[in-house]
This record gives sequence, structure tokens and C-alpha cells, in this order.
Amino acid sequence: MLKFVAFSDDYWPSTMHCPFCGKDDTKVIDSRLVAEGGQVRRRRECASCKERFTTYELAELLMPRVIKQDGTREPFDENKLRSGLHRALEKRPVSVEAVEASISQIKRLLQGTGEREIPSRVIGEQVMAQLRKLDEVAYVRFASVYRSFQDLNEFRAELDRLEKQGFPEDDR
Ligand SMILES: [Zn+2]
Repeated sequence: MLKFVAFSDDYWPSTMHCPFCGKDDTKVIDSRLVAEGGQVRRRRECASCKERFTTYELAELLMPRVIKQDGTREPFDENKLRSGLHRALEKRPVSVEAVEASISQIKRLLQGTGEREIPSRVIGEQVMAQLRKLDEVAYVRFASVYRSFQDLNEFRAELDRLEKQGFPEDDR
């Protein structure tokens, strides 16, 4: 069954090239969930040549929006998440597959909350939880950078906690 869905402006990317004339000034005229909600089908119209065409977009669109530290909102960005993980895991013996599995887990968790908006802090904590399972060096790398931006006291508390508890070796 097809269902109409309404997204906010950020979910209506207008920079889609028209397959007929190549201009990128296209407008969404209709949007429906298809593939059991896993995809969004959009009818678009080119403002230049008036041709209409259809695009399909994946379920990333249904991820909650991210509330940043300064209170502004932005769409969830999987690539940003991926590059953050890879940066922390640079030169560490962790496979791309393991990183992708972590990304899927984080996304499922965020979607599972059912929230439409999620503080960036929650994502940061999920990243730390995943890195902690993947590689302890990467975990400390990420935690030190991340925490220093968030809250110095929280970072110190985290370090204290780690010193007391050590790393969860048996957790891997
Ligand atoms: Zn066109």
C-alpha cells in the first residue's frame, strides 16, 4: 500500500540533475513511501524543460535529524559517521566489514528510538560504544577528541573510570 509522507525542507533535495536537459533546477511534485517503507519514490519536474521523472531514495531519509550542540538541526549524515570511525581507526587492524557492521548497528539503534530528532551527543556515545568493541586504541583516540569538545569534566571522569576498570577485553 502506498502512503503519502511529508518531510521538512531538508528532506527535499532540489539539486537533482534533470535527465533530459541536465539542469539541476528540479522540483519535487509528489513523494510516496514504497518497498514497505524502505524507499521514497519522488516525482520531480524540471523547471527548465518541464519534463517529469521519478527518483527513488533509500531509507537513510527516515533517520532522525541531528540536534547539534548549538541547537541547530541537520540531516543525519552516514558519510560523516563513516569518516569519523575511519579517522579513529586509522592504521588499526579493523576490517571495513566490521566498520560497516558498526555503522548499521548505530543506524538501527537510532531508528529504533522512534525519535524524529536526536542530540548529536547520543550519536557520539554510540560511536564510542562501537569503537570500544572494535579497537581500544581507536576508542581512546575518539573519546579524547570527542570528549574534549563536549565537556572536559566528563572526559576526565571517563578517564578515571577507565583507569579503574580497564578495557573490556572479554567484551570482544
Ligand atoms: Zn530539464
